[in-house]
Amino acid sequence: MRATQAADHGTLGETIAARLIELAAVSDEPGHLTRLYLGPGHRKAADLVAHWMREAGMAVRIDAVGNVVGRYRARDGGPLTLMLGSHIDTVRNAGRFDGALGVVTAIEVVGAAFRSGKRFPFAVEVIAFGDEEGVRFASTLGGARILAGNFNHHALDEIGEDGLTRRAALKAFGCDPSRLSEEALSPDRALGYIEVHIEQGPLLENEGLPVGIVTAIDGVTRGTVEVDGVAGHAGTVPMPMRKDALAAAAEMLLAVEERARERSNLVATVGKMDVPGSAANTIPGSARFTLDIRSPFDAERTDAVADIKEKIAAIAQRRGVTARLNVGHQAAAAVCDQKLSEQMAQVVESYGIAPRRLPSGAGHDAMAFDKVIPFAMLFVRCRGGVSHNPDEFASPADIDIAARVLLTFLDRIGSR
Ligand SMILES: [Zn+2]
Repeated sequence: MRATQAADHGTLGETIAARLIELAAVSDEPGHLTRLYLGPGHRKAADLVAHWMREAGMAVRIDAVGNVVGRYRARDGGPLTLMLGSHIDTVRNAGRFDGALGVVTAIEVVGAAFRSGKRFPFAVEVIAFGDEEGVRFASTLGGARILAGNFNHHALDEIGEDGLTRRAALKAFGCDPSRLSEEALSPDRALGYIEVHIEQGPLLENEGLPVGIVTAIDGVTRGTVEVDGVAGHAGTVPMPMRKDALAAAAEMLLAVEERARERSNLVATVGKMDVPGSAANTIPGSARFTLDIRSPFDAERTDAVADIKEKIAAIAQRRGVTARLNVGHQAAAAVCDQKLSEQMAQVVESYGIAPRRLPSGAGHDAMAFDKVIPFAMLFVRCRGGVSHNPDEFASPADIDIAARVLLTFLDRIGSR
């Protein structure tokens, strides 16, 4: 009896936090949360989410790519739709907030409207995407890209880590891959896409803010650098005569870091360095390292890549080694819609919270909609900036603010 009362009188944030615990128990493997796209945990999670959507007054279907789509019809049966969503797949040994927070918050916000008999002048579709993390298959954002109409259909033949193709995995999940193209949205009927997500970084916590408005999802350049010098005996080659590839690579790494520190939005990481054939008593003859450079501004990123390339060449020349930068994957920044973001910022401010704007260094489903429909994102503070980790945490109080901001946002854009 008491529990029922608590549920009835609890905040939206408390209800969402409780449901996130329930959802996190749905896993491919016992003891921790691992929910890969189209796996057994995904199947059960989709059913649970569909159940919550029905309770919240939505008509529910699972589409041809495995997205759970709940539709809350418009007041006057109007043709326009606002989409809300995030993902329910996870990394291995995940936290319970990444992705799920945006899905459950959207459901509860629609549920709150439903319980008070409120309809909007547009339909609201809540979408639980299933393929954001890119763990099972190499390519990512399959669920969102099918809707956005920019899915690469060659990816259907991609073989996942369990040996099944994406096509076979879809069939096993009960989806019909031949109908994928039918799921593409009509941009002229979509008002936009809104995603609530944990920040996965420390900025909001550092500034004492519960939520923030995303400006853009960073563009990224990845690459590798191959440095070749001359291997030699650690005891016999005098210091001035060495062509030490690892020492050169170390200086290059520091130059990368120094360049990134010049701009507040730019981040650059050397995440991996290899010294082939290394030994304690040998001067390293070669070194290999990775580069990952991100910024919400494409020009800032491409300028940095050009500068880093020059610095690497200068260091190599001075040290008598050769260095080659191979650029691999590149993606442009996905810029959030100014109008939707400004409306979101105004709502945040109306709750007495400074409308902090910040870029996202991590990718999200929202980026699939870049240049297709307008999109905006609301970040929620997470403890220590920790994510992709069972220790991931956002407080019920912060989640409650995010939910109320989203509900007020729906009201406001509906009254225009
Ligand atoms: Zn996520």
